[in-house]
Amino acid sequence: MVIVGGGQSGLAAARAVLSAGLRPLVLEAGAESVGSWPGYYDSLTLFSPARYSALPGMAFDGADPDRYPARDEVVAYLRRYAASLDADIRTGVRVAAVRPRPGGGFLVTTNGGDQIAAAGVVAASGSFGNPHLPRLSGQDDYAGEVRHVARYRRPEPYLGKRVIVVGAGNSAVQVAYELAPLASVTLATRAPIQFVPQRIGGRDLHHWLRVTGVDRLPRPVLTRLVRRAAVLDTGVYRDAVDSGLLDRREVFTAFTPDGVTWPDGTSEPVDAVIFATGYRPNLAYLTALGALRGDGLPRQVGGISTSHPELVYLGLEFQRSFSSNTLRGVGRDATHVIAALAQRVRGAGRGSGAIRRSSVRW
Ligand SMILES: Cc1cc2nc3c(=O)[nH]c(=O)nc-3n(C[C@H](O)[C@H](O)[C@H](O)COP(=O)(O)OP(=O)(O)OC[C@H]3O[C@@H](n4cnc5c(N)ncnc54)[C@H](O)[C@@H]3O)c2cc1C
Repeated sequence: MVIVGGGQSGLAAARAVLSAGLRPLVLEAGAESVGSWPGYYDSLTLFSPARYSALPGMAFDGADPDRYPARDEVVAYLRRYAASLDADIRTGVRVAAVRPRPGGGFLVTTNGGDQIAAAGVVAASGSFGNPHLPRLSGQDDYAGEVRHVARYRRPEPYLGKRVIVVGAGNSAVQVAYELAPLASVTLATRAPIQFVPQRIGGRDLHHWLRVTGVDRLPRPVLTRLVRRAAVLDTGVYRDAVDSGLLDRREVFTAFTPDGVTWPDGTSEPVDAVIFATGYRPNLAYLTALGALRGDGLPRQVGGISTSHPELVYLGLEFQRSFSSNTLRGVGRDATHVIAALAQRVRGAGRGSGAIRRSSVRW
């Protein structure tokens, strides 16, 4: 099985492939098999405590399971996890295209020009490589800085500047909050921000997500319960917004050459706009295969391709549940999609002999 991407999704896939008695080959574009975590902003800590953040088979090290691991601790954890797997993990290898292979399976082409025959493919390439940047009126003529939060690292470069952060999710609020002491910041959102307490009844929210089963709810059920995405908060973010320490406004309507125009018609100069407006799956290498819809999203149900049954996905937002795109949830999805893939690949091999005759290696 060829696994595209060596982040938490790719590593969880590799473990599940091994458990299914098959051989995983992980192809990772980066220098290490630790996913996108090194690229996240410096101050990032997990929103779930260590005890609820592990992948299958390996707990986070450390004495206090209730701490919130920092970004670099997650990187170190994934490094250890990768090393613990008896899997062929090749770093510095970017998959350029996946195509059907005559006789069965796929031909995976790397950016180095290698062609690898695969009985099955797991697309675990994340979304950090494909940040979503909206286009607003006047944006092309705006002379200030426009940046997606994916390219934000730390607050110091914004010292003394006028900055707008656009978005109502965890990243938007965290970044605006850490910029506020250094810069003149406005958090621009379409609607008032919804906060959810980090701790309820003396327990972290993730305890309750687990015991109530909310963590496993599919999107249609969850959205009936919770209308809008919510920001996890110990109380500091809500206090900052309520007290005016953090200015919150509706999103501006247009850029001007040196700033923005607000919904009330007033304009002001702005040095930088940071969009924390989400990500899209990073799957361009599947275009030639015909596995994607016109909008670039995969044709899939629950992570199993509906156009190519020997192709599965991991790490998609709401792939099977609320927790699909998290450290704590991806292992469950890996078990599910790899079981289906293993069955399919074994069936293909038994039924027609196609896989074996065509000497697919992975
Ligand atoms: C700012 C931020 C904070 C988050 N905080 C949390 C949190 O606190 N807790 C939590 O559980 N989740 C969190 N998440 C969500 C999620 O857990 C992470 O995004 C996580 O990195 C997703 O893992 P992944 O393996 O699916 O994707 P990634 O970590 O993005 O890994 C994908 C890998 O695929 C590689 N790749 C991409 N394209 C190719 C290609 N063509 N060929 C070969 N390799 C390729 C990339 O180099 C990368 O290493 C956060 C996400 C963001 C953006």
